Amino acid sequence: MFRSEYLNNVYNDFLKKNPAEPEYQQAALEILESIEPYVMKHPEFEEKKLIERFLEPERVVQFKVVWTDDKGKFQVNRGFRVQYNSAIGPYKGGLRLHPSVNASIIKFLGLEQTLKNSLTSLPMGGGKGGSDFDPKGKSDTEIMRFCQSFMTELYRHIGPDTDVPAGDIGVGGREIGYLFGQYKRIRNEFSGVLTGKGLSYGGSLARTEATGYGLCYFTLEALKKLKNTDFNNKTVVISGSGNVAIYATQKATALGGKVVALSDSNGYIYDPNGINLDVVKQIKEVERGRIKEYVNRVSGATYTEGSKGIWSIKCDIALPCATQNELSLDDAKLLVANGVVAVCEGANMPCSLDAAKYFIENKVVFGPAKAANAGGVATSGLEMSQNSMRLSWSFEEVDEKLHDIMVNIFNNSYKEALEEGNEFDLLTGANIAGFKKVAEAMLLQGI
Ligand code: NDP
Repeated sequence: MFRSEYLNNVYNDFLKKNPAEPEYQQAALEILESIEPYVMKHPEFEEKKLIERFLEPERVVQFKVVWTDDKGKFQVNRGFRVQYNSAIGPYKGGLRLHPSVNASIIKFLGLEQTLKNSLTSLPMGGGKGGSDFDPKGKSDTEIMRFCQSFMTELYRHIGPDTDVPAGDIGVGGREIGYLFGQYKRIRNEFSGVLTGKGLSYGGSLARTEATGYGLCYFTLEALKKLKNTDFNNKTVVISGSGNVAIYATQKATALGGKVVALSDSNGYIYDPNGINLDVVKQIKEVERGRIKEYVNRVSGATYTEGSKGIWSIKCDIALPCATQNELSLDDAKLLVANGVVAVCEGANMPCSLDAAKYFIENKVVFGPAKAANAGGVATSGLEMSQNSMRLSWSFEEVDEKLHDIMVNIFNNSYKEALEEGNEFDLLTGANIAGFKKVAEAMLLQGI
């Protein structure tokens, strides 16, 4: 599998230690394949067991979350916090609330987060957490009781200089508010222990928009460098209709693109005239409804049941912003046959590894998640700075810093890709650029 015998042994051992964890195995394989040329230049890694140490989370916490629903019935869920790597700063990464959440998914996300946070050049280690709780269809008070119960255990593992969680799938401003309120109550402490907070209690302007905006800044930079083009007059397809998808739609449109499709886990909408984002925001952010409702409000739009079909729509730019493994090799072939120019990942690991490789082979601009969607955590880092300094920057200041960070992430990934001999291989570039700093910090700190 690997040219390096060392990596073969490490990965085989990793598979034995983490059986039945397909997402975690997939993420580790992708990273190891990418960093292999760098590892081979550093024989001291083997002696110091650096890769084995890198692939072992520093701490994995699993706990029960018991709460009562509106009918007074007891409910039991499982909570997780994986503190993956703190070599370059306090653990940092989101909380995901979705029925699919398990140890494999949280570990894969924690591993990815470690390299992503390193790429931002801010001092943040990697972590991730969540629960198999399904927020869909729950009342506000049920969400609150769940969040309070979740934090009643989580609080002992986190802190502004230890581990700073944020949002992810199913966790937005409302959930962060309830989690923060409970942390403050238990600790009697008002601190920057979570990011993605409301503006009235320490949140940062532009945090809500940051992942989607950052994705478009990265895509634009890559389009300019690799294809000498931009978003102008490009047809864009975006999957999902949550936080990342909505603000990617907003920025892609502002940059001159026409977004024609969005989805949720039930199906996708197609609007040849360009998505009306006000309607989407009303449905998703205010009413918390389903995306199919869009076609009842906008004439000329159609809805198709089943979310996978979205990649059959002809487009120049595809931005998968829903969830892991939502874009397969067959989807990649369809997109390439339809002339796609760029595919940049808003979600974490939305493309299977063979799909990602197919894009790179076909000289499609491919923006890997840990680089392309790092804008969210970067802005969380900026929120932490503002909290520590007890001040707040304007929207424009934060947006400008976000833009600079995304350009910097692209440049660093591009530089490493060039060094490895393929300027289109930003996957290798991002993995090496992110890993270098973590490896150096781990070595300097001893065991
Ligand atoms: P949200 O919960 O706001 O939205 C998720 C969206 O994806 C929803 O529209 C959801 O639909 C849809 N979705 C989920 N599963 C599927 C599926 N199998 N097929 C099609 N659509 C699906 O989450 P976010 O927008 O915050 O996160 C989206 C992705 O971006 C995740 O991979 C996350 O890890 C990643 N990310 C998020 C960041 C952030 O700042 N929020 C930062 C970096 C990465 P439904 O309502 O039907 O479930």
